[in-house]
Parts: sequence; structure tokens; C-alpha cells
Amino acid sequence: MALREIREYGDDVLARPCKEVKEVTPRIRELIEDMFETMYDANGVGLAAPQVGVLKRIVVIDCSPEGDEPHLLINPVILETSGEQTGYEGCLSLPGKSGVVTRPNYVKVKALDIDMKPFELEGTELLARAICHECDHLDGHMYVEKVEGELVNNEDLQREDDEE
Ligand code: ZN
Repeated sequence: MALREIREYGDDVLARPCKEVKEVTPRIRELIEDMFETMYDANGVGLAAPQVGVLKRIVVIDCSPEGDEPHLLINPVILETSGEQTGYEGCLSLPGKSGVVTRPNYVKVKALDIDMKPFELEGTELLARAICHECDHLDGHMYVEKVEGELVNNEDLQREDDEE
């Protein structure tokens, strides 16, 4: 396993649609392991393959505070959404920044697992937000396109929290 370089906003690879995975080759298996390692190392809750420069439809997510609920989604397709949540969102490809984005509060997604077996995953709140955010990456979209108002520096956000 190895850490991969996280591509930053403005990099062309983040603006391009990704291709479906047809087979989990040893290379892809290694990519997935590296994506988890890179996400945990950066204290992220999700990472999409284009963020490490690979245009494939692969997403890893772990929203649990302990980092022990890893989700791997290969070729994910969102089947259902409902409700609404509005809150700050960030991205490892735009370090130190956050912005307010409205997302569904419930998401059901279908995807393939490491053995290319189909499964469905339901998420609410942070997991729903992460699924939407990461699936957007696979189509070349970033949350900044959906931000309401200005991007803020995370340091300022921290200060606001402290004052409350
Ligand atoms: Zn992101």
C-alpha cells in the first residue's frame, strides 16, 4: 500500500467523467487499498479515484468517527434520494476550505463490491452527503459548483464554532 498524491481543484483530471470498471484487476485492487490509505491519512471521509488521478468509477467512504466503517463503491449509481440537508462541506482536493451545500438527507445507491457483486447502500446525513459528493466527482463535478455563498477558510469556521 502507498499514499497517492491528491489532485487539487483546477487539475483537469477532476473535471472529466470517469469510466466504468469492467474487472477488478490486481492494479485496481492496489488502487483501492491506496485510496483508503490516502483518505485516512488526510483525515477525509471520502475519496474518489479521479482525486488520485485515475479516471475510474471508484469511491471509498468512511464517515464513522472511529474510521471503522469503510465503504467501497465500484460503478455507483444513485437510485433514490429524499429530504434535504444544508451544511458545510469540504473536499480533500480543496484543502482548508469549506462551503455550504444543500444535499438530500437520504440516499440509496447501488454499486459493485470488490468481487464485482452488486449491492445497495442506504445513507442518511453525513453518509448521504458523502455519497452524493463522491459520485459527483465521477462525473467531473466538484461541490464548489453547488456552494451557496462564499467558500470559507476552515480556520475561520473553527473560530465561529468556538465563539458559539
Ligand atoms: Zn471531494
